[in-house]
Amino acid sequence: MKDVLIYEQITLHFVFTGAHNKQFIKKKIEALCQTVKNFLQINYVCQAVYFIMNLYEKMSLSLTKLRNDRMLRTIAGKAQNGAEIEIDGRKLVNLSSNDYLGFAQDKELQAEFLSSLPEDAARFSSSGSPLLTGAHPAYARALATIEELSGRRALFFNTGFGANSGIIAALCDGDTLVLADKLSHASIIDGMGAGRGKALRFAHNSLPHLRQLLNRYAADFKYVLLITEAVFSMDGDKAPLRELVALKKDYPNLYLYVDEAHSFALYGEKGLGLCSLEQIFSDVDFILCTCGKGLGSQGAFVLCNETARDYLINTVRPLIFSTAMPPCAFAHIDFMLRKMVNGESRRQRLQKISGAVRSCLEECGADNLSDSQIIPLLTFDNERAVQAFDFFRERGFYAMPIRHPTVPRGKARLRLSLTASLSDQQVCHLCEVIRQFLRKAS
Ligand code: PMP
Repeated sequence: MKDVLIYEQITLHFVFTGAHNKQFIKKKIEALCQTVKNFLQINYVCQAVYFIMNLYEKMSLSLTKLRNDRMLRTIAGKAQNGAEIEIDGRKLVNLSSNDYLGFAQDKELQAEFLSSLPEDAARFSSSGSPLLTGAHPAYARALATIEELSGRRALFFNTGFGANSGIIAALCDGDTLVLADKLSHASIIDGMGAGRGKALRFAHNSLPHLRQLLNRYAADFKYVLLITEAVFSMDGDKAPLRELVALKKDYPNLYLYVDEAHSFALYGEKGLGLCSLEQIFSDVDFILCTCGKGLGSQGAFVLCNETARDYLINTVRPLIFSTAMPPCAFAHIDFMLRKMVNGESRRQRLQKISGAVRSCLEECGADNLSDSQIIPLLTFDNERAVQAFDFFRERGFYAMPIRHPTVPRGKARLRLSLTASLSDQQVCHLCEVIRQFLRKAS
């Protein structure tokens, strides 16, 4: 006799993790029950028991998943001293800092700044938006310094993130096509998303793809805003800035926006960045510089012309509706800008160290994407990136694993971020650890 299976009652449990309403869930469950009935070819009533997770349960599930995947981000206070960082009571060489020139960790500079701080700048709140009461004398002095150094108009922001997302959203109206490099920073992507124009991304540093998009769409819009980073934050390579400027000849409605977050203070005679080094400084419509990286301070500013500056003052929401940085922060920017001008020996030191580490990768036969102080050690696989993090930490280095979705799938890496304050001995040791890691991998 044949076995007969009798299903009297089937209970199906569904967990919906998205932001669905009850109606949607009911419909989905009915459809799923029907599929089960058809599959089992039975006529019994399927009873579905479901519950909707509350917000905290949903968050908790998502955190558990991140923890299991070793992708959970946390914030923990970490003491830094020179080129070192203290993690769990252990001193490691810091390869995760954006203090590229070693300005931020320089104790002598800190002491000099504090002893020379003008009385009117020793204040720790600006008490308002720059449009209201937030622009103190220290603000005006820092503004005058950067405008004199650059020969352009400048406008300060509290962060580079707020500057990019706010400026781009303000520029990106319905008449505008925005084209940004595929590897652009999250703040640029957010700005594009918040604007009302058509926003497209071109393949990383690909002039052919960019031209293809321009030929297809540029004529349909009054304005085209082309956005790139000068040095890319994850690959450490440089944008073809001269070629991008040259596109302006073929597309008269094209305006260029360059984010110098990872190159400001690092290149050019006075440290003004890669556009300055490439001698296209005045051809770029908007140059975004952050102060929290190479400059060793905090905040950001955009360099542009006077009309653009006045327009941004009247349209950029994170500028209009946010309290300005305190006077002491502007005094520090002002102080650091002057140090930056004379920072050539630090710039040269960083170039030398970076060249040595990139050569080490190449000698080992490893892929080298970088042309700067940001050097990715590609592990391709997410899990391997975590193993690389452990390997380097055990040998005294703190370098962050960067995985999908921060970088494209299959492009996971350990991000080595170098600073001029690394000693020769530390650089030699780093190269040795890179060799050991790559030998182990092959
Ligand atoms: N642009 C780029 C390319 C960046 O990498 C970053 C920060 N990582 C920013 C902008 C944001 O700058 P800030 O840290 O001053 O907000």
